[in-house]
Amino acid sequence: MQEYKLFINGEWVDSSTGETFDDINPATLEMIAKLQKASQDDVQRAVDSAHDAFEAWSTTPAPGRGKILFRAARILEERKEDLARLMTVEMGKILKETRGDVQEAIDMTYYAAGEGRRLLGETTTSELHDKFCMTVRRPVGVVGLITPWNFPLAIPAWKIMPALISGNTIVFKPASDTPLLSIELVKILAEVGLPEGVLNMVMGEGSTVGSAIVHNKGIRAISFTGSVETGKWILGEAGKDMRRVSLEMGGKNPIIVMDDADLDLAIDGVLWGAFGTTGQRCTAASRVIVNERILPEFQKRLIERTKKLRLGSGLDESTDVGPVINNSQLNKVAKYVSIGKEEGAKLVLGGRAVKPLPGYFFEPTIFSDVSPDMRIAQEEIFGPVLSLISAKDLDEAIDIANSVIYGLSSSIYTKDIKNAFRAIEKIEAGITYINAPTIGAEIHLPFGGVKATGNGTREAGTTAIEEFTEIKAVYFDYSGKLQKAQIDVEQEEE
Ligand code: NAP
Repeated sequence: MQEYKLFINGEWVDSSTGETFDDINPATLEMIAKLQKASQDDVQRAVDSAHDAFEAWSTTPAPGRGKILFRAARILEERKEDLARLMTVEMGKILKETRGDVQEAIDMTYYAAGEGRRLLGETTTSELHDKFCMTVRRPVGVVGLITPWNFPLAIPAWKIMPALISGNTIVFKPASDTPLLSIELVKILAEVGLPEGVLNMVMGEGSTVGSAIVHNKGIRAISFTGSVETGKWILGEAGKDMRRVSLEMGGKNPIIVMDDADLDLAIDGVLWGAFGTTGQRCTAASRVIVNERILPEFQKRLIERTKKLRLGSGLDESTDVGPVINNSQLNKVAKYVSIGKEEGAKLVLGGRAVKPLPGYFFEPTIFSDVSPDMRIAQEEIFGPVLSLISAKDLDEAIDIANSVIYGLSSSIYTKDIKNAFRAIEKIEAGITYINAPTIGAEIHLPFGGVKATGNGTREAGTTAIEEFTEIKAVYFDYSGKLQKAQIDVEQEEE
């Protein structure tokens, strides 16, 4: 059994306690690796090492930082298939999707590398003579990155690459369920010459290792992706010291299907949106709000198509739906199925844990007759459970879409351009798709949500650089005399 270590100051090291934890394949329940569990002392060592590396890295010209990232992107491309297979073994999602996850990391690495020749500021006019005004970007400092298990390579890359190109140094904690892809990413960055101490990785439970990152005052900013509960707690704790926090959290994403929609297209989208990644995407479609006139036909056809989805090992190219990540997630999905039944929703498909292999499999599940206030229509389940909700018209559909605490992704299927623009305007979400499901973000657009999904920051796109830089306004006075803004301007006018 291979045992993996922590990465601190450019070296793979044992944790100070020597404690380990196990990495399990969720499809077969085989143990695939042992990992060193970091202690609070290890986190402190990682922070110290990131501090020591900061001066040299932050003053390395950004295009030079970019060259390292370009080299990393090329290696990620060469190893894409191996990384995808490893991810399927560790996380469970099917190969088609893990290849997409790796591709997202490749795209982000190239994109961030290119930002090394931009990192744009602004120049603007001054109200005074012989004075030049501009903004420049500065790195934030040592940043703490905490990631979830559902995108084991893409999400770490979404954070690490923009943080690096912006000149920050890093203490990074991957999810305990899926650390192997993060280890591979760190290995690649070390291989292409990332200086020691710039990226440090500690592994272990959120409640201890994650918490030590959150409470470490040497860390100037925290970027977190995960559940609302954890995110809220982090915001409260790091907020006490006025440290920066960026949060990307849960969703309860709706697809609206209007009566003029292309039904086959909408059903393709709903299947992919609801059951892709076994429903374990922050952008998964867990509510489909269907116009009442087409609901019976839509429901019949959706059930027929869903019945054909094959559960099994993600390594088998004919599998459509892999396992859920772990036993507690399986229990959570089963609990919500019971809640749905108790609330009076009609279970029209699935609803049971099954065993095509020894692991954590749950049937694709559909509830009909769901009212918008039921818990299954309000709370994030993060599994293959879909609620069908009826709406009489677009206004009602949008009201239902907006009736949850979350606001990450959303979608509408319609052929009427007026409906589409009304949805763009009125749906409370960070992302709206027209005639496409709620999943499918591209890395050069901002990603994030409103309401309880986030705290106003966005990842990816140019906004990724916002997350990891401070903006400084610079006033350059070359008049050779004391000029007073606001005051001298008025005198000139008199
Ligand atoms: P989670 O339990 O909040 O865990 C996320 C990360 O935080 C893990 O690395 C976890 O460590 C760590 N953590 C847990 N408690 C912590 C604490 N007290 N202090 C610091 N770190 C702590 O979420 P999850 O179950 O892994 O992920 C699923 C959630 O992520 C869903 O709600 C999903 O919607 C959301 N998500 C959002 C996005 C987005 O971009 N909006 C993308 C993907 C997923 P351990 O692994 O050791 O527990």
